[in-house]
Amino acid sequence: MSNEQNIQINLANIPQLLAHAIALENEASERYADLADLMEAHNNYDVASLFKKMSGIEQLHVNHIQEMVKRHRIKALPTVTYHWLSPEGPETTDTTDLHYLMNPRQALKLAMYNEQRACDYYANIAAHTQDEETRRLAQELSAEEAEHVGMVRVWMDKYPEPEADWDQDDDPPFQPD
Ligand code: ZN
Repeated sequence: MSNEQNIQINLANIPQLLAHAIALENEASERYADLADLMEAHNNYDVASLFKKMSGIEQLHVNHIQEMVKRHRIKALPTVTYHWLSPEGPETTDTTDLHYLMNPRQALKLAMYNEQRACDYYANIAAHTQDEETRRLAQELSAEEAEHVGMVRVWMDKYPEPEADWDQDDDPPFQPD
């Protein structure tokens, strides 16, 4: 477990929660679209379509949250950023860690890690906010991310562990003579 899970996120009100939620869901949707492209480039259409589906689900979340912003008549949200992490953490890899030879199971593992992280993120907010409405909404968002974790886990079990030499390319894109 990384240190960030020990950090208390204390969001005082709905606008703050919605700003964080939009940042998180946008990032998730974009990363899934990236993973879909990556898998498609490898003719892995099964997993590509699965990631497209996830991207769409997270995009629906963004739309849903934007509706809430309107409903609460919030004029401006604070600017917030959120980045996916690889299971190994940001110290050893870049923030996205999308390797072009990644197999479906590894891609799904990355997705599951980030779904769990999103779930924990909202749960943490729910646990620490003083505001009842913010807590309810954070719990709702956390439960939805928990569903995503379950979904990704089911898919992951269908794919074998990667070979030991998964990152060795037998047919590299560029071979000097
Ligand atoms: Zn999700």
